[in-house]
Amino acid sequence: MGQGLSCVADPEHGLFSAVQSGDLETVKSMLGRDSSLLHQRTAYDRQSLLHIASANGQIEILSMILDRSLNPDLLNRKKQTPLMLAAMHGKISCVKKLLDAGANVLKFDCLNGRTCLHYAAYYGHSHCLQVILSSTQSSPVAASWGYARFVNIRDGRGATPLHLAARQRRPDSVHILLDNGALVCASTGGYGYPGSTPLHLAARGGSLDCVRELLAWGADRLQSDASGRIPYSVAIKHMHGACAALLNPSSAEPLVWPSPLKFISELNQDTKVLLERAFMEANKERENNILKGTAFSPSQSHSDAGASGGISEADDSELCSICFEQVCTIEVQNCGHQMCAHCTLSLCCHNKLNPTTASITPPVCPFCRGPIARLAVAELKNSNDPDHSANDINSSKLKKSRRSRNFSEGSSSFKGLSSAIGTLGRMSGRGSGRIAADKDLMDKP
Ligand SMILES: [Zn+2]
Ligand SMILES: [Zn+2]
Repeated sequence: MGQGLSCVADPEHGLFSAVQSGDLETVKSMLGRDSSLLHQRTAYDRQSLLHIASANGQIEILSMILDRSLNPDLLNRKKQTPLMLAAMHGKISCVKKLLDAGANVLKFDCLNGRTCLHYAAYYGHSHCLQVILSSTQSSPVAASWGYARFVNIRDGRGATPLHLAARQRRPDSVHILLDNGALVCASTGGYGYPGSTPLHLAARGGSLDCVRELLAWGADRLQSDASGRIPYSVAIKHMHGACAALLNPSSAEPLVWPSPLKFISELNQDTKVLLERAFMEANKERENNILKGTAFSPSQSHSDAGASGGISEADDSELCSICFEQVCTIEVQNCGHQMCAHCTLSLCCHNKLNPTTASITPPVCPFCRGPIARLAVAELKNSNDPDHSANDINSSKLKKSRRSRNFSEGSSSFKGLSSAIGTLGRMSGRGSGRIAADKDLMDKP
């Protein structure tokens, strides 16, 4: 992938190959003899030493050249910056170094009118993507251009980084972009089929992980492209059966992660892990039901849920007083009321949330109707049990099911959703170490 950075056979050849292979001493001594070599370019592609060092991840040489205060935004023949090449090749240390040196994230190449963010997303280097986003968030670009605008920046054919990541089957990048405010329903101009959304492109690429991410962030299964096709028809046409099953408008609606809510983004890590886990379990179970009986039937490892031993009875005082099925793990602050993770999600999840609409009524505490300042992991009340610490969120004791219901309704009513999700608790939390395992379900690195 990417274009080659071939060196040409002329007097500079030695310098270029020394940069490419990271031979710092040779580069230093050549530049010491003739400092004008710093400005050498390859004959055809017009790659500078910075381009070659960046594309090959030669961080020492890159640092040495940048310390001689060379402009970090030199352009090659395709108007690519060194930062674009580092992002394309996933050279994270070079990406960081160039950003520290003040490299401009708003440069567009003349191939497809793409930025460094497009490159990182297209090639799926999610760590580079994250670094570029984090650095931009606190930069003048965010202040003058607007951070959301940067995240949704379009290339020459109207593709945002999210479109490219979805098309190229890059679920980690899709997740990071959505987490940073990428518009899940944006249509392309001329990229792919005109009017394609990220969901159309994921359907075409056939990545179930990308489809799952997009749906969880509220992508619309009924949005048509310019030729009137919905993502479902695209998946069918390209014979991606499992994707098609999830995209079928008659399949149950997925839950949508309540990311735009301010207090969710301010969750501490433990709370976020707990909620994300409950969320992924709920959608995974829904997915299993959809795929059941198809050729894409998932493993049946969850089907014996609830039959496992070792689930001890909890005191009624610990039970969530909304669903009466799960133990309270989340505390609403500042009022201190407690409920289970599943009910917390049902309080915050919306179907078809539109991130472009500015104001979303924030949820209130279901007990006192007071505002929710923060969500935290609840202190468990039963202190007799030595295994029972606040951090013990893997404890099988958290899971408790008294009755079984069918997870079928697409109801968005508070009670309906909470009981539907609550049922899913049976399959989770068996044994410890599940959080690490569940991270895989979230397609995180
Ligand atoms: Zn509950
Ligand atoms: Zn309250």
